[in-house]
Amino acid sequence: MMGERQVRQEALFYGFSLEEHVPADHLLRAIDRFVELSDIRRQLEPFYSAIGRPSVDPELMIRMLLIGYCCGIRSERRLCEEVHLNLAYRWFCRLGLDGRVPDHSTFSKNRHGRFRDSDLLRRLFEATVRCCMAEGIVGGEGFVVDASMIRADASRQKGAASAADLNPEGASRAVDEYLAVLDDAAFGAATEVPPKFVSPTDPAARWTAAAGGLAYYAYCDNYLIDVEHAVIVDVEATTAVRQAEVGAAQTMLTRTAETFGLWPERLIADTGYGSAAMLGWLVDEQGIEPHIPVFDKSQRTDGTFSRIDFTYDNERDLYICPGWKELLHYRRQFAQPRLGVDAEGLMRYRATKHDCGGCALKPRCCPKHPARKLLRSIHEGARDMARDIAKTEEYAVSRRQRKKVEMLFAHLKRILGLSRLRLRGPNGARDEFHLAAAAQNLRKLAKLIPVRAPAPTG
Ligand code: SF4
Repeated sequence: MMGERQVRQEALFYGFSLEEHVPADHLLRAIDRFVELSDIRRQLEPFYSAIGRPSVDPELMIRMLLIGYCCGIRSERRLCEEVHLNLAYRWFCRLGLDGRVPDHSTFSKNRHGRFRDSDLLRRLFEATVRCCMAEGIVGGEGFVVDASMIRADASRQKGAASAADLNPEGASRAVDEYLAVLDDAAFGAATEVPPKFVSPTDPAARWTAAAGGLAYYAYCDNYLIDVEHAVIVDVEATTAVRQAEVGAAQTMLTRTAETFGLWPERLIADTGYGSAAMLGWLVDEQGIEPHIPVFDKSQRTDGTFSRIDFTYDNERDLYICPGWKELLHYRRQFAQPRLGVDAEGLMRYRATKHDCGGCALKPRCCPKHPARKLLRSIHEGARDMARDIAKTEEYAVSRRQRKKVEMLFAHLKRILGLSRLRLRGPNGARDEFHLAAAAQNLRKLAKLIPVRAPAPTG
């Protein structure tokens, strides 16, 4: 039998419970258990005037932003429409059926003012890490570090040849932010190599073709994650150059120790983090095992002996060549001991002309020079340690665990929709990366921690 036709009609009263309407297994219901924002009002209090009209509740704005980043709603205008219409979103925002959704412009005003002044989004992210630690899903034994390029909100069709060519008349907030981070190691001071083009709309974004294919303007999203359940323990925005990413790894490791008391026994990363300086910092200064491939350019391709063919004698601080002769750092005794280290942290070990001149292996060793010379980094001990670790079974496990951070970046771009930034400038990138990392941690908590059954009554 055909059912009755639905006729639009306005009822005067409804018996409707928003609480009952949201399914027990809804993502936002699972996330809501871990969103604790009661501290936000206290943190923001100094940034509000004591007089004037009451503002929009900051907790409501943060809850709306979390919906946007957890559910891949990138536009704040669309977010407001969705929260207005979606009952589960209204439930998560504590809006009820008739609560008023703020205008999208409210987010922009608060972001450029109170939220950044109080570093609110950073604290929000840190709160999710503390929650993960409290739930016991952060092991703390091993961390993985990696970075992923995220397209900036800047047209690749437009670009000035240098920052000096930018029109000062049209200076925007993004240009002001670019000037503010010129000496910052994560941005302007990361490299002395000038970019090929500078975007007039977001000059701090780096013109890069590092991902292969067409070049574009980008920022780097740096993640430090715990290997046990891939919880993001720190996040940092940098310009898209490798030196900035390595600096960010050091910043994040130090900050994680200071903020959460987490200090890993091993760090897993790709070759980009395997420079001598980085390995030296990890091993000699921090006591962390580097599960990182060594960045090594000493291998020769012209058929002559590479450095690997020479044996280093640690006790006597010298190399033994394939012809069983010694290559020494210094042959003379100096009254004032000399370090003999150049600006790049390299020491030179030399054979004698006498040894090489009469050697049958010279054509395969140093055919164009009177004697062989080897370079050794002051961090070579740390590099040797990384090479030894690379031969172990634990290292093979670490290589597999490194995939976890790549999965997080893939999820960030494909599911959460952060393949391109919506906000401009270094602060815009920071805001988006903090919110996205907080959303990913909350989704992780929702997935891993089962809903506890209510305690029996009576
Ligand atoms: S050429 Fe010199 S350094 Fe090379 S194997 Fe012969 S003696 Fe050793």
